[in-house]
Amino acid sequence: MPCSSHGQRRAEGRGNGRRGSPPPVPRVPTRARPSSVRRTTRGRSRERHREHRPPRLPLPPRPLATGSVAPDPHTACACCGRVRGLVYAGPVYTAADEDLRGRLCPWCIADGSAAERYDASFCGVVAGDVPEAVLTAVGRRTPGFSAWQESVWLSHCGDAAAFLGPVGSAELAAYPEAVDALRREAVAWQWSADEIERYLGSFDREGQPTAYLFRCRVCDAHLAYSDFT
Ligand SMILES: [Zn+2]
Ligand SMILES: [Zn+2]
Repeated sequence: MPCSSHGQRRAEGRGNGRRGSPPPVPRVPTRARPSSVRRTTRGRSRERHREHRPPRLPLPPRPLATGSVAPDPHTACACCGRVRGLVYAGPVYTAADEDLRGRLCPWCIADGSAAERYDASFCGVVAGDVPEAVLTAVGRRTPGFSAWQESVWLSHCGDAAAFLGPVGSAELAAYPEAVDALRREAVAWQWSADEIERYLGSFDREGQPTAYLFRCRVCDAHLAYSDFT
């Protein structure tokens, strides 16, 4: 859509140029076009800009980077009916018959309307001891993420942590405290030291096993858990 409207504007510019005496072609369009675009379509440009940014989502601060939200210029949200340009790409846990995966916009998740309409939640489990309000914020107003098993949202310092995305071993190397958390996880599974070190070196963002990286929003500690099928 943006392409065709740009094309139209360009055509108008050329038309205006032809009305006068032969214009210095390279200068007139480059100077005139941007200001006329700003003047005539300010509202629409701003709207478009806003539509292609997700709503404020503090728990996945970069939902496009984590894969929780994906660009989709065609799909109308099942909840609000609008084509917003972005859809929620993670799991939807609901008793509704409809398959809602890939069919909800992140705005309807952030304002709670999708959760209310479909009695849905977007996260498997919230780990740790957190207040009810945090459970609601994570489960019903936050885009979740796809994992190999049911997704687990980590918490720290009594609050939900920020989800930074699925990661492989190479990315994890920058977060030694998260690697320690994964090591402790494997120790609890009673694996041998060799098995644990092999496992820690085998995480893959796309393949499996995968590690899921979080950051505490209170103390900034990095946390992680891992899963596989
Ligand atoms: Zn919507
Ligand atoms: Zn913390």
